[in-house]
Amino acid sequence: MECGQKIRYQNKSLADEACRKLIADNRQTGKIGKSWKRLNTYRCHQCGYWHIGRHNKLPKDFRPLPPPKKVPSAGEIRRRVERLEKHLDRERRQRAYLIGKVVELDRQQAALEKERRECVLAIERMFLGE
Ligand SMILES: [Zn+2]
Repeated sequence: MECGQKIRYQNKSLADEACRKLIADNRQTGKIGKSWKRLNTYRCHQCGYWHIGRHNKLPKDFRPLPPPKKVPSAGEIRRRVERLEKHLDRERRQRAYLIGKVVELDRQQAALEKERRECVLAIERMFLGE
């Protein structure tokens, strides 16, 4: 085939990049049926640049692309939100519990310090006399 009207790429990686985009595009639009599977890059014998062409057979390393990500349904989104809210509720409860515990421990500590001060004062009174 004459390469005159084909797009020329300076190197393989540029051609591969363009080929990937072309495959993704054709796969989505179905413009060229299933033959996007045979799109590949090759170095041209005529001009020395790289082109995108179609193999007659599937390339040996052909791997079907994973199916495009499907859009979640309203129900799936709702369930996801519910799971997230449950998770956040758990975290909020846990945080409230821990804060409550810290407050309680602070209160106990203050009571112990007060009791300690009273004991020290009682000792001082015993030794110094009243
Ligand atoms: Zn060429």
